Amino acid sequence: QARSARLYTEEDPVVILSSDNLKQTVFNSSSAWLLQFYSSWCGHCIQYSPTWKALAGDVKDWAQAIRIGVLDCAHEKNFDICKEFGIHFYPTFRYFKARDTTNDFGKTYRGADRELQTVRQLMVNFIQNHTRQDWPVGCPPLDPVRSENVLSLMGKKTEHYTAVIVEDGDSYMGREVILDLMPYEGIAVKRALSADKLLMEKLGISSVPSAYLFHPNGTHTVMNVQKRLRFFFSSFLKLLPGVHRKQSTSSLQRPQPGNNGQGTQVEWKEFKKSKVYMADLESGLHYLLRVELATHKTLEGEELKTFKDFVTVVAKLFPGRQSVVKLLETLLEWLVSLPLEKIPYDAILDLVNNKMRISGLYLSEQVQWVGCQGSSVALRGYPCSLWTLFHVLTVQAANRLDALANTGFEDDPLAVLQTMRRYIGTFFGCQECGKHFEEMAQESLNQVKSVDEAVLWLWRKHNQVNARLTGSMSEDPMFPKTQWPTPDLCPTCHEEQEGLHVWNEQMVLAFLKQHYGASNISPKYSS
Ligand code: FAD
Repeated sequence: QARSARLYTEEDPVVILSSDNLKQTVFNSSSAWLLQFYSSWCGHCIQYSPTWKALAGDVKDWAQAIRIGVLDCAHEKNFDICKEFGIHFYPTFRYFKARDTTNDFGKTYRGADRELQTVRQLMVNFIQNHTRQDWPVGCPPLDPVRSENVLSLMGKKTEHYTAVIVEDGDSYMGREVILDLMPYEGIAVKRALSADKLLMEKLGISSVPSAYLFHPNGTHTVMNVQKRLRFFFSSFLKLLPGVHRKQSTSSLQRPQPGNNGQGTQVEWKEFKKSKVYMADLESGLHYLLRVELATHKTLEGEELKTFKDFVTVVAKLFPGRQSVVKLLETLLEWLVSLPLEKIPYDAILDLVNNKMRISGLYLSEQVQWVGCQGSSVALRGYPCSLWTLFHVLTVQAANRLDALANTGFEDDPLAVLQTMRRYIGTFFGCQECGKHFEEMAQESLNQVKSVDEAVLWLWRKHNQVNARLTGSMSEDPMFPKTQWPTPDLCPTCHEEQEGLHVWNEQMVLAFLKQHYGASNISPKYSS
């Protein structure tokens, strides 16, 4: 199938089905399914595909209860199966119940309203149409709980948090939050109704929606979120200490600690999520210069140019300690002054490790991950520090407009991003990452026209990577991949429009400039 004709790709959060797997997938499945049978030549289907992708992304965490799929009836391979399923119009929306052994062809949704919020609510209704016998495996109850079941939790010690969303009977938010938290452990979410006056009174709730939180230690409080929106409640709960994503089978096969050469994690270092740590940035530079580059025996041609440009950008923009900045500047002067077209890596190492140390220029050889600590040494660390470094550099480029004067990069809003792109493509040890990053760059980097847009582009792309990696092997269960900044870090960054979470990008930009700005970099733990 021609790429141009494909409305959905593996990158999208939808499951792409075909005649090969449709029946096995949707018949007698542990979860319910909502499928769109579309045709790649149908104008409506093309126009609707962004909504469908947004919906699938929005309910990705509901997968144990209901999943979203697509099947292209215009694909020759699928002609027969679409006929067998009686698909006459495109798009056709079909629901398939969980654990249904009747092998029927699903129930068609004929409503004219296909707005994201409407379809999402229909999905909730559809889940609730299951009986006790065919209830999707792993899906918690969605019916409201009674006051006695909530009040009995008071003062009781438990192994997990319990959140109770109190809301009006026609509100969907509580059920949506229950489903959002389904893949997480350490938390149970329930829904209660505002019509339950005894409960409202006992919990001291006067307006809804509200959420009440019972802690494992037996204490209880009203949950304090800045905005009473689904995203704020869900985010708050996902970030509670001890709440993390359940380990998937793939994450159980994670590499064991100690085998990736990133040094061993000894002691846990307390840190604030609202800060950036110099120790992470310096450890990242150490790893980059002494470990990652070391795999290249000599640097020449494009590689050498990429490295020089990288050192230029970092030397000019890195808001680091004087000894480190001076080291980077000296390295740059040395690289620029050498008439060689080929530099042995050992010469760079000798300069960084020995020659500069004599003049007091020193980059610690100790790996100290702080904000980038992982729950095991195989997680987080270096890639986290590299993201952090490049966010800091894009913000520096936007805050200090003349910093790149006389470098050949002046007036180039893409200076940092293009350098990052080439560094990642040439040297970054994770080749898959490089490939994905290059695809994202090819798609939209040319739309970046200012240094502020560069800051936002990197933020957007990083979130795209976060979304793709949710639940993957590289996700640290203690640091679940989220759309960042979370509402606790930046409440004004988040808004809701017609039931869908949207970013206030102006606020995001201001936040990024503050968060990754020089004055928010903490020197704590940098040795
Ligand atoms: P990271 O994603 O590394 O983020 C580090 C910190 O940045 C977070 O703790 C948070 O404070 C902040 N942050 C998070 N999101 C944003 C945002 N949107 N904007 C600004 N700051 C943010 N791994 C793969 O498995 N597959 C890939 O294809 C892949 N591609 C990558 C591409 C690049 C360019 C890089 C640098 C890394 C890539 N990785 C990939 C690694 C992966 O993205 C993570 O870096 C790694 O899994 C460690 O995750 P983390 O939890 O430490 O958070």
